[in-house]
Amino acid sequence: AASESSRLFEEARAVLAAGSSRVLATTPGAAGQPGHVIYARSAHGARVVDVDGNEFIDFNNNNTALIHGHAHPEIVRAVQEQAAHGSAFSFGTEAEVRLAQLLCERVPGFERVRFSNSGTEAAMMAIRVARAYTGRPKIAKCEGSYHGTYDYSEISFLPGPDVWGEPDPRPVPSAAGTPQGVLDDVVVIPFNDTVAARRILEEHADELAAVIFDPLSYWVGMVPPTPDFLAMLRAFTKRAGALLIFDEVVAFRLGYHGAQGVYDAQPDLTCMAKIIGGGFPVGAIAGSAEIMGVLEGNFFAGGAGRPRLSHGGTFNANVMTMTAGLVAMQLWTEDEVARLNQLGERARAQLREAFRAAAYPGQVTGVGSFFRVHLTERPITGYRSQYWSSDERAWITQLQGYLLRRGIFTQPMMSCLSTAMTQADIDQLAEAFEDGLRMLVAEGKVPA
Ligand code: PLP
Repeated sequence: AASESSRLFEEARAVLAAGSSRVLATTPGAAGQPGHVIYARSAHGARVVDVDGNEFIDFNNNNTALIHGHAHPEIVRAVQEQAAHGSAFSFGTEAEVRLAQLLCERVPGFERVRFSNSGTEAAMMAIRVARAYTGRPKIAKCEGSYHGTYDYSEISFLPGPDVWGEPDPRPVPSAAGTPQGVLDDVVVIPFNDTVAARRILEEHADELAAVIFDPLSYWVGMVPPTPDFLAMLRAFTKRAGALLIFDEVVAFRLGYHGAQGVYDAQPDLTCMAKIIGGGFPVGAIAGSAEIMGVLEGNFFAGGAGRPRLSHGGTFNANVMTMTAGLVAMQLWTEDEVARLNQLGERARAQLREAFRAAAYPGQVTGVGSFFRVHLTERPITGYRSQYWSSDERAWITQLQGYLLRRGIFTQPMMSCLSTAMTQADIDQLAEAFEDGLRMLVAEGKVPA
């Protein structure tokens, strides 16, 4: 009989474009079956139960946003209480002030914060702040990296070998209908290739408002940046009069002081989202008072009193998000960061051990509480080397489907832990993963 999820998905396809408002919702079906959305019924801690009663350990955590897993009791209590007193105001709320204070206390370069509702908005706002501050039009980004679905930041997200350009990456539109003007204002550099990236950046030095950089991008293979590359980005932007933006929408969870604390880096602007919303929609940018000063002013003042850049948003800093985010970040203590990163270390070690035990030539990348598996031994050094062959794409999808049937929810690219997890969850992941690899070996789905 058809599952409740597959029945719901049929209904969904009649009213929702592509059947869902989310990109990564559709999961592979059982062998020979088409994929469908899995509909959640409820979730607590590390586990989600779907509408058919299947239980999964959630190694995706809403695309890495749920640092404490699902329905953490303290967050639930705080938002329940707040909801009874109003969920959104055109007034300010104390929670907004407290969350901004917490972030400024944790990260040395944060003097001013501004909240929005998504990481896409955060990256967009960071780019707009950089343009307003520098008066320049262009941005640079790494090939393959994802910074949300704003026209400019979306250029060269996941380009294929047929279009990516040789040897230097060229700006490739991700969206049909991308205006040529957008392509003209985006410079694309190869991740961790210091020499080539510097040469390409220098060609546009006078026109660049910013380089936007994710210090640990899934889409670039989950490979850490080399100190050399980071130093080049900092030195180049300083010399060129451009801003260095760190997109820590995902990577902020790497450390108590964010990814910049871990890599000892000093970006001019930082984008955040995901974990700082405690399970509610969020985005934020932060930087010096000087740079964030482009937002100072009174929108209605007219003339010189107006801000150089306005930032509207009906739900910006809404009190539900601020309340949940504040509790989530208070729970994200230095001890918890260390404990979770250690568990991440264990997870990667056990997945590597699974590759060895199953005699499968693969590898694991990731740092902190993140992991990504690669069904190849080709050295993963950046975007092009992590790019799946058609075999790898098929195998990883099959493996994902297998893990799902074993009660393990992963996305091939975006997997991470939450503080709700224990060693037993990691053991279950590693055991199912090893069995999945054995299945691939038995079917001859192994790199040549
Ligand atoms: N930047 C990075 C590095 C991301 O990974 C994402 C989303 O995964 C975004 C920006 C966009 O964030 P959001 O999905 O909240 O719009």
